[in-house]
Parts: sequence; C-alpha cells; structure tokens
Amino acid sequence: MAIDPVCGKEVDEAVVRATTGQTEGGANEVDPAQGTRRFHDGKWYYFDSVDCRFRFMANPAAFIK
Ligand SMILES: [Zn+2]
Repeated sequence: MAIDPVCGKEVDEAVVRATTGQTEGGANEVDPAQGTRRFHDGKWYYFDSVDCRFRFMANPAAFIK
C-alpha cells in the first residue's frame, strides 16, 4: 500500500495502476474513481482522489517529507 501524501489515506497502487494507462503522447490516463497517481521528482505518488492530486500539484514541497 502507498500512503496518499496529502490526506494520509492508504492507496492500493495495484488498483490505481490497473486503471491507469498512457496515451501515445505519454500523458497519463486515469480513472479518478479508483484513485490516481503522479510522477514527481523521480518517484510515483499515489492519491485517493483527484482533489488530493490537485492539492499536491499546487505545492508538492508541502507534502513531501
Ligand atoms: Zn487523499
């Protein structure tokens, strides 16, 4: 399990990956109902919701220990 760095909830990476694809251009496709993820500064971060991902993207440093 991964921990959502924004709200602290556990996120199952396998579920998020299973519903995530990539377009030919390399952009991520996600099913927000199953959680989402974001590649940042060399590693993947997992989120339980798009809302948490938006908060993370707005200020990643605030959520990375
Ligand atoms: Zn969250």
